Amino acid sequence: MTEAATTNQAKGKRKWNFHPRLDEQMAPFYQWPPQPGKTLRYIAASWGPFSVRIYVLGLSIFTWFYFSPALERCREFGFDWIAQIWLRNLLIMLAVAGSLHLYLYTFGKQRDEGKYDPRDLARNSKQFHFNNQVWDNMFWVLTSAVGFWTAYEVLMMWAYANGYAPYLEFSDNPAWFIFLLFVTPWWAGFHFYWQHRLLHVPFLYKIAHSWHHKNTNTGPWSGPAMHPIEHSIWLTDVLIFLFIFSHPIHAIFILQFHALTAVTSHTGYENLLLGKHIKIRMGDFFHQLHHRYFDCNYGTFETPWDQWFSTYHDGTAQGDEWIKQRRRLLYQQKAAS
Ligand SMILES: [Zn+2]
Ligand SMILES: [Zn+2]
Repeated sequence: MTEAATTNQAKGKRKWNFHPRLDEQMAPFYQWPPQPGKTLRYIAASWGPFSVRIYVLGLSIFTWFYFSPALERCREFGFDWIAQIWLRNLLIMLAVAGSLHLYLYTFGKQRDEGKYDPRDLARNSKQFHFNNQVWDNMFWVLTSAVGFWTAYEVLMMWAYANGYAPYLEFSDNPAWFIFLLFVTPWWAGFHFYWQHRLLHVPFLYKIAHSWHHKNTNTGPWSGPAMHPIEHSIWLTDVLIFLFIFSHPIHAIFILQFHALTAVTSHTGYENLLLGKHIKIRMGDFFHQLHHRYFDCNYGTFETPWDQWFSTYHDGTAQGDEWIKQRRRLLYQQKAAS
């Protein structure tokens, strides 16, 4: 158990079962003076075999070659090729979120090793549709999330097929092709922060984003469990490929990256333990804090704005104290105005 978790327990309140050090996990991209060695090590680890990114990229490439309709079929919207993409996305989501849920929660294969929140997922809770967090989450993921994921992919395939999205073959410019894949997670994080801030504007929060925030504790199905309005905004970063040269693999990758890393980052576990020796980094304590406290950590561990705009909770007891004081101040200002 980490020092921070022990401190929390010593306070008499078991806030976290497991508690990584966030300052060591944040991407060093924006540190001053620049840290080239640290940055290269971070990038290598984030694309290495003990991180999920490389598997999502592999799946995206595999998907394009073996489970995508030929572009010529996509010139006109047709039931057959759209249904093919929808069914494939549905099966991918069922396989990834379903197997993680079964492994971690139903069969408890790694018990609470690396589990952030000591609480179980909610049952008999009126907050959730069907009074059950998992059923609620599964419903919105398998209907709306898979639906919007498919809709954006269909739109992009149609755009590539008709020349509305500038099409790039790998052999045309291999360096640009690879560079684009490589910066996709960074672009997705950049976009995620700003659309997430927008979703916290009171009106949008109330009608849409509050659905995702019902999950103060999260499981694999919680990540893409959102209101349909949020789903429609969440994936708009793929539209950048309407303006720059790219290949359908890029569009498939950014959409799978969002859909599948939302699952892994919300598992509630820091790592996936396979046997005694394989440990794959999966969870996102930075975002777990956002689910617990709401008004902090809007971005990702690769975006700098939470630190720059003073909304960064570093996961320590001092961070808890800071957020309490900040809230008090905000309420006082609101009451005075
Ligand atoms: Zn979330
Ligand atoms: Zn939020």
